[in-house]
Amino acid sequence: MKQRLDKNDALSLYRDAPLEELCEQAQAARFAHVPERRVSYQIDRNVNYTNVCLSGCKFCNFHCRPDEPEKAYTLSCDDYLPKIAELKALGGDQLLLQGGLHPRYGIEFYEDLFRRLKEVEPSLKLNALGPPEIAHIARLSHLTYREVLQRLQAAGLDTLPGAGAEILSDRVRHFLSPAKPSAQQWLDVMQEAHRLGMSTTATMVYGHIEILEERIDHLLRLRTLQDARPAGMPGFRAFICWPMQLTGTLLEQLATEKRLPDGITLPGEPARWAADEEFLRTIAISRLILDNVDHIQASWLTVGLPTGLRALQAGADDMGSIMIEENVVSAAGAHHSLHEVPGAGHDVSLANPAGEHRLRSAIESTGFTPWLRDQLYNPR
Ligand code: SF4
Repeated sequence: MKQRLDKNDALSLYRDAPLEELCEQAQAARFAHVPERRVSYQIDRNVNYTNVCLSGCKFCNFHCRPDEPEKAYTLSCDDYLPKIAELKALGGDQLLLQGGLHPRYGIEFYEDLFRRLKEVEPSLKLNALGPPEIAHIARLSHLTYREVLQRLQAAGLDTLPGAGAEILSDRVRHFLSPAKPSAQQWLDVMQEAHRLGMSTTATMVYGHIEILEERIDHLLRLRTLQDARPAGMPGFRAFICWPMQLTGTLLEQLATEKRLPDGITLPGEPARWAADEEFLRTIAISRLILDNVDHIQASWLTVGLPTGLRALQAGADDMGSIMIEENVVSAAGAHHSLHEVPGAGHDVSLANPAGEHRLRSAIESTGFTPWLRDQLYNPR
């Protein structure tokens, strides 16, 4: 049996292996998980149900505090109707619902919201919240993580996104987002979700104050948790990583004004490679470490389509979503679109049926066959 990568091997592979060699190894691992020369994608819509959040993460331009009434919003049920109608018209079937750690929204708010959305459109899939929100609801409503997840499942939650992981290191989290649930709490929520048979994803946001060892530890913690999922349960179906978007954030401001505390530097790892090479190396090492996760996504909305397509040669097998709406990473500077496909012209918006055709053509240009999937990686 092939030996698993340990921390030291992973560090030296990431740092020292020529990119081509690292990608070749990652591609071999990719084809062991997904033998076919095909690349999946999904059509969904990210809806941010509120922007009120107590967490105050230093990298987030999206949230506002509860005492900023001129900025704060919470969507009403009526607000969802045109969004769902447009999603259906474009061939999508899933809402990715994300918000913040709202000071007043306990379990009943989410149960009511999920039930109403399912009444509006029973075929709609809800990929909603994330471990920080589950931990926050548990605290507000005096429930265990398991009770929160069970009640939300009963109300219509289908799958749990791996949001809010950033880097699973408390050194990093204490500085970036001190009010957010800890790394262990993130893992504990995910473990309960896996025990309940929920399909989840795992994420990593890199390229800020973390050091490389913390990135590798993050991946190893995910692998250990995935090993512990009950037999026959999916656990993490996919892993998604992207570089942190810093434009206009408090973190960028602190760095520019040289107000970061001792021991905190930005970026965490001295830039040895261009940003796209760092992304490709991170995708490849993720594929090699996460030998128990089937799918690795190329997060093209944050790195741009050309680099996202290159990730298909570095171990990724999924292009993620044709996201009809996204507000969080775009608030910090990610504005990529299908315009970046060579020859795609300039009239393509994401909320346009032509977007799917463009993405399929782009995948085909790399020698793979595109296929539309659902959130459980079944063909649609
Ligand atoms: S990243 Fe999420 S948890 Fe952090 S401040 Fe923004 S909305 Fe809140």
